[in-house]
Amino acid sequence: MIRVIRGVRDILPGEAVQWQSVEAEARRIFGLYGFHELRTPIMERTELFARAVGETSDIVEKEMYSFPDRKGASISLRPEGTASVVRSFMENGFERQLPWKVFYMGPMFRYERPQKGRYRQFHQIGCELFGPQGPLADAEMMAMAMRYLGQIGLAEGLTLELNSLGCPACRPAYREKLTSYLESKKEALCGHCQSRMDRNPLRILDCKTPGCREIAQSAPHMKEHLCDDCQSHFDGLLAHLDGMQLPYQINPLMVRGLDYYNRTAFEITTGDLGAQNAVAAGGRYDRLVADMGGRAMPAIGFAMGVERLVLLLGEQNQTTPPAPSVYMVVAGPEAEAVALAAAESIRGADITLEVNLQGGGMRNQMKKAARSGAAITVIIGDHEAAQKVAQCKVMESGEQQEISLADLPERLKSDLK
Ligand code: ATP
Ligand code: MG
Repeated sequence: MIRVIRGVRDILPGEAVQWQSVEAEARRIFGLYGFHELRTPIMERTELFARAVGETSDIVEKEMYSFPDRKGASISLRPEGTASVVRSFMENGFERQLPWKVFYMGPMFRYERPQKGRYRQFHQIGCELFGPQGPLADAEMMAMAMRYLGQIGLAEGLTLELNSLGCPACRPAYREKLTSYLESKKEALCGHCQSRMDRNPLRILDCKTPGCREIAQSAPHMKEHLCDDCQSHFDGLLAHLDGMQLPYQINPLMVRGLDYYNRTAFEITTGDLGAQNAVAAGGRYDRLVADMGGRAMPAIGFAMGVERLVLLLGEQNQTTPPAPSVYMVVAGPEAEAVALAAAESIRGADITLEVNLQGGGMRNQMKKAARSGAAITVIIGDHEAAQKVAQCKVMESGEQQEISLADLPERLKSDLK
């Protein structure tokens, strides 16, 4: 037997019910804010991610699924959604239609160590907003994320965490300060952090290793080294959040895993998923479009991990796939000759119906009907088929009535009400 790949899983029908509602609510809530769905491809040129996500990011360094296509071009499965959204924005000329507001949902791929809430194929729902520069956009996006999470039943136990990552005017000086602090503690850093000290010292603040965490506690904070523009952006954001009475916590150690962020960074965290504590994460990336060859374009976005949302919800309520409204028992060759046409006319009235496709005696089929959870069983035997009628049994009361096949859709519809 061939088994599924490590870190990759099936979403079984019972779970899919919950996935569908998580996705439907996203469409609905993001729609209230004027966001429209964008569907980008699952594979792109590797170069797109190398440039957008950053050559020194963990994702590009060691987590991408990359392969040559048959002509030798390097292709990668998308590890995140923003790079493709930026590409699509530029390629389709949406610079002329600002603000541009889109959301996406779908699978992402990262070669990580699988554990609870961390997989190699996982799913994100994300939003991106291009155009607005001021903190109004940041605050509205956070409100939207929190409204969505509240709407799907996760209001309790979530924390909105914020930080500012500065900008090209103030980050280099801070980075130097941080590097010299980290140099003084170099021996105590983990191997990975020692090696990324020169390339990406900010990421060390985010390292999950206990030793690095302790060092991060006393590190200088970007927040205390912001330039005036970044400071007033951050202050404006806090004021707008206060104005909406949206609670938040400032976390000066939050830096985010992708290289492209500037100014606002945020995460929505839970205490209930162990190390995988972020259900949503995002921030501003005002220079990314220009870095990718477009014109300067302020932008902000965030993405949520659907598996983590579903894990949190699953602990609250398990679901089973819905039962059909009607089950059809088909006993005999004459009955089989009319059953599917009758079933089609019933589904034509928008009624979910399951036909017994496996034959068997009447008793056996009635057992299946009971097990299906259907409210009504329609029974067609050869005798009924000859008369162009069916027996309709209301499963709860056991009450049974003969109804002509022609009247079935209407009668079932009113009986099911
Ligand atoms: P983490 O710190 O948990 O690795 P990240 O910083 O890599 O997260 P992003 O790249 O910003 O996360 O992705 C946004 C969200 O996608 C995360 O907050 C998380 O909910 C989810 N996510 C990221 N990686 C995975 C994964 N391998 N499996 C499941 N969900 C994931
Ligand atoms: Mg990660």
